[in-house]
Amino acid sequence: MKRQTSLSRDHARRSFEERLAAAKRSRTVEDAKFRARQAQGKLRRFVRINFRREDVIEALSLRRGDCNRCGACCEILFKCPFLKKDDDNTTTCGIYEDRPSQCRLFPIERRDLEEVRGSCSYYFIEKPVKLEKAS
Ligand code: SF4
Ligand code: SF4
Repeated sequence: MKRQTSLSRDHARRSFEERLAAAKRSRTVEDAKFRARQAQGKLRRFVRINFRREDVIEALSLRRGDCNRCGACCEILFKCPFLKKDDDNTTTCGIYEDRPSQCRLFPIERRDLEEVRGSCSYYFIEKPVKLEKAS
């Protein structure tokens, strides 16, 4: 009887360890996916800002809200060395006046928000439907 109890304890421990390992693997996969999305986003914004200005202007016309200075967009993929954390939990850019356009214009479109895990206080409205001219 005693041996059976110790066997079932072993089994329970192993199954717990297996579940823990599976959870860790799944978290690693999620992290990798998240970082891949951030890398794609950085590249997409760079291309749009430098080569598709009109597109950017149109996309920004749908943006609403203000920056809450959370600094999440300054930590996409890596923490920017110019980012300064303030005592009140907000952040400041060390080169604010000279910051790159990619920083000035973030977020350009709704999907950019997915790279900052809900910290950004901007939001986007739907594109208004164009009404046909009445004949
Ligand atoms: S340059 Fe300034 S705004 Fe741009 S990522 Fe760094 S801290 Fe943020
Ligand atoms: S993530 Fe959004 S709210 Fe936060 S600092 Fe960047 S632009 Fe501002």
